[in-house]
Amino acid sequence: MSIVKTEFWTVDKNVDNLRNYPQITQSTQMLIRNEVVAFPTETVYGLGANAKSDEAVKKVFMAKGRPGDNPLIVHIASRTQLDELVEDVPGQAERLIEAFWPGPLTLIFNKKQGKLSDLVTAGLETVAIRMPDHPVALCLIQESGLPIAAPSANTSGRPSPTTAQHVKDDLSGKIAAIVDGGATGIGVESTVLDCTENTPVILRPGGVTREEIEAVIGEVRVDAALKNKAAAPKSPGMKYTHYAPKAPFILVDGNLSFMQELIDEKKLQGLKVGVFIAKEHENEIKADYILAPGTSSDLYTVATGLYDTLRKFDELEADFIFGEVFPVTGIGEAIMNRLLKAAGHEVVKQM
Ligand code: AMP
Ligand code: MG
Repeated sequence: MSIVKTEFWTVDKNVDNLRNYPQITQSTQMLIRNEVVAFPTETVYGLGANAKSDEAVKKVFMAKGRPGDNPLIVHIASRTQLDELVEDVPGQAERLIEAFWPGPLTLIFNKKQGKLSDLVTAGLETVAIRMPDHPVALCLIQESGLPIAAPSANTSGRPSPTTAQHVKDDLSGKIAAIVDGGATGIGVESTVLDCTENTPVILRPGGVTREEIEAVIGEVRVDAALKNKAAAPKSPGMKYTHYAPKAPFILVDGNLSFMQELIDEKKLQGLKVGVFIAKEHENEIKADYILAPGTSSDLYTVATGLYDTLRKFDELEADFIFGEVFPVTGIGEAIMNRLLKAAGHEVVKQM
């Protein structure tokens, strides 16, 4: 892949007239010219491209090294844009849109033919769509007048980017521009919900929790592949290894003294051991690198710092990493989904 010059632009997401800023107008022009531009959303940084253009969408797959059978989420900024892209909006989807858009909820619809590059949907008859809740993302979509395909702006398989620096680390020299609008908020990706079934199905847990969805439309199902690693996922992307730090990473389902024994064993082998742990436990364990993104009592703090923490272990060059198991309620469902994937589903359980 040829090296390109990557522009790096900083914007203040809180200014009133964002659309008049040269960084935004230039990024918009790039998107219209089918270049790819990374920008912040409220979940993680996205790698945006004109979703109507094969040329633009190909660049996204190339830059990320993403398998071609893993479809992209299309980002929109208005309800009119949705109606242009999908066959119908079921009643349940209508209520969820009312409740959660703009926000971290991606909905799967039956697509209208010929509206988007077929590469976006990886040949599926359905399309994943969301409206991000971030002024920079919304402004770029509005000003370009395009539906924007935007997967997370990381190299495929690495932890998703929650700062512009993470994007730079992975994609500098491979994309046209990075718009730095500060650190993202939620820190895990959107929830993906399939609304084409009578009972909607969660294909990926994320920023909007199952409890929040059920409060609006009643009971939803959870894709079998999320509970059972052997089942074939309905969301193609869920079959790939993801989010992994470079060193082996294993989750520990047990108490702190059990974890300490495991750490000490590795240390006896001369390894530099890292630990991913809740803040309330960080002083109760001894290891080379103890990183605590947040507390179990407020799991949103863990979500916000999750990917940055996984990336830090790479910078520190830890040889082996143990991770704490977090409660699987609320946003904890998304946190544990990402940690399990980062660990390749390896969990040591205390007997
Ligand atoms: P990312 O772009 O990294 O946020 O990942 C997008 C996720 O949405 C992946 O897990 C995709 O497999 C999933 N996805 C995108 N489009 C569809 C679709 N039409 N049907 C099911 N899952 C989808
Ligand atoms: Mg991703």
